[in-house]
Amino acid sequence: MKNIILLGPPGAGKGTQAARLVEARNMVQLSTGDMLRAARTSGTEIGRKVAAVLDAGGLVTDEIVIGLIEEKLAQDGHGGFIFDGFPRTLRQADALGALLTRTGLTLDAVIELVVDDTALVGRIVKRAEDAKAAGQPVRKDDTPEVFQVRLQEYYKNTAPLIGYYWAKGDLRQIDGMAEMQAVADQIASVLDKA
Ligand code: AMP
Repeated sequence: MKNIILLGPPGAGKGTQAARLVEARNMVQLSTGDMLRAARTSGTEIGRKVAAVLDAGGLVTDEIVIGLIEEKLAQDGHGGFIFDGFPRTLRQADALGALLTRTGLTLDAVIELVVDDTALVGRIVKRAEDAKAAGQPVRKDDTPEVFQVRLQEYYKNTAPLIGYYWAKGDLRQIDGMAEMQAVADQIASVLDKA
């Protein structure tokens, strides 16, 4: 069982790569974004609390997302947990470290998908168009305007995690601009060495 964090800005391909790892290695994807959207759709108390923040592209409170992750860590991680979109702040990173220690789990690698920012907005717009064409719900935050807010949040709050995990010796940087399969191959190689 190997537990990893996928790190990178919105549109870097974290969700796509996580889904492949679930298929290929029986890993368990823990996407706080998916959890929050599900809470919102089902109208739970958390869902109601976070709806406006999700639409505006801001970050929900550390307490809420840490609570969501804590619940999931109590479940079977099968081939390992993939943290996708979590942690997003230094406080969340510290909390994750403490939770893993408490549950006897290790963090085996933090994989940063290094991407070109100018390509990201195009990917987000395409994601919205593809969802629409497939008759799937379109994320309200996948617009060029909200994307700018999400990117700012990333640089302000999440990018410091790159240095944090580098200093711990956990950071592995891979080329997130490569073809989807080539990115998957790089991730596989990191996992096999971890
Ligand atoms: P994502 O699906 O990862 O792009 O997340 C969608 C939205 O959910 C983000 O723009 C935030 O509003 C919220 N969110 C997801 N994960 C976190 C997190 N770890 N901390 C704070 N907010 C989050």
